[in-house]
Amino acid sequence: MKRIGVLTSGGDTPGMNAAIRAVFKTGVDIDLQVMGIYHGYKGLIEGRVGYLAHADVESKMHKGGTILRTARSEEFKTEGGIEKAISVLRAYEIEGLIVIGGDGSFKGADALSKRGIPVIGIPGTIDNDMGYTDFTIGFDTAVNNVMNEIYKIRDTMRAHDRVGVIEVMGRRCGDIALWAGVAGAADIILVPERPLSWADAANRLAANKLRGQLTSIVMIAEGAGKAEDFCEYVRKYTDVEIKATVLGYIQRGGNPSAFDRVLAAKMGQRAVELLADEAHMRGTDRIRENRIISVPLAEAVSTRDCFDDKLYDLNSVMAKF
Ligand code: ATP
Repeated sequence: MKRIGVLTSGGDTPGMNAAIRAVFKTGVDIDLQVMGIYHGYKGLIEGRVGYLAHADVESKMHKGGTILRTARSEEFKTEGGIEKAISVLRAYEIEGLIVIGGDGSFKGADALSKRGIPVIGIPGTIDNDMGYTDFTIGFDTAVNNVMNEIYKIRDTMRAHDRVGVIEVMGRRCGDIALWAGVAGAADIILVPERPLSWADAANRLAANKLRGQLTSIVMIAEGAGKAEDFCEYVRKYTDVEIKATVLGYIQRGGNPSAFDRVLAAKMGQRAVELLADEAHMRGTDRIRENRIISVPLAEAVSTRDCFDDKLYDLNSVMAKF
C-alpha cells in the first residue's frame, strides 16, 4: 500500500483533528502518502481530495472542529453515489481509507468495505452512542463542556431559588446527560433509556421544595423531550419556579480534553497500522478496558448501544438527600 485517504463525516467532534494528525504522522512514518478528503462522503463523491502536509496538521491537535471539514451526503447512500466514490478513490489511487465519524459514517464505511475497498473506522461522535466501543472520541470533551455549564447555571438558579433544566444533545442516547449529570451533581436525569414520567419528576421537584431544597438541577437529553416543554409542565402542576437552558452547539465546541486527544492519537495510529497490514481484517478501532482493539465494521454497526444503568442508579442515590 502506497497511498491512503482520511475523511471526517457526520457531526464534528473535538478530537477529530488529533486523530487526523495521528493518521498523517503514522502514515508518513511508514512511508505512506496520506491524502485528505474534504467534506466527508460528499467531498469524496465530488473529488475534493488533496495531499496532506505537516503544515496542515501542525498546531491543530488542540483545536475543536475538523480541518478536513465534515458533511452529510444523501447521495452516498445510493448505489450511484457509492460507485462515484469508488471511482474517485481509484482515480486518485487511494488504496485504503480511514473514516472518522459516527454510526451513520460507519454504515457508509461498511458499504465501501463490502465493495472491496479497505476501510478502517475511527469512532468520532460526542454522543457515545456506538455500543461496540466503551468511548467515542469527543464524548469526554462534551461531558466536560456540559459539566462546566451546569455549575454556572446552578449559581444563578441558586441566587433566585429556582430549578434549572438543562437540555443536552442525545436523541437516542442519554450518555452526555448521564455523565455530565453525575459529574455536575444533577438531581434528576431524564434520558430516553430510562423513561421517568414527567409527573414523577415534577413531584420530586415539589418534594425537594417542601423540604427546603429550592434549587435543583434537571438534565434532559433531547430524546427525552424539550427542556422548555418540561418547564411548562412543572409550572402547570406545581409551584416550583423553573427555567430552561438549551446548551446546543456549545457542547461540541472548544479544545478537546486530554482524554480525547490521547484516545484519538492511539486510535489514529492503530487505524493506519491495520490498513497497512494487508493480512489483517479490515474493521474499526474500539477501546475496551483501556485497550485499543479492532473489530469488523459489520460487527461495529450491528452492536446495540448499552446504557450504564448502574451509573444512573448511583446518581439516583446521590440525589436523594
Ligand atoms: P453523528 O453521530 O455525529 O451524527 P454520524 O456519522 O452518525 O455522526 P450521519 O449523518 O448518520 O452521522 O451519517 C453521516 C453520513 O454517513 C451520511 O450523511 C451518509 O453519507 C453516510 N451514511 C449514513 N448511513 C448510511 C448508510 N446506511 N449507508 C451508506 N452511507 C450512510
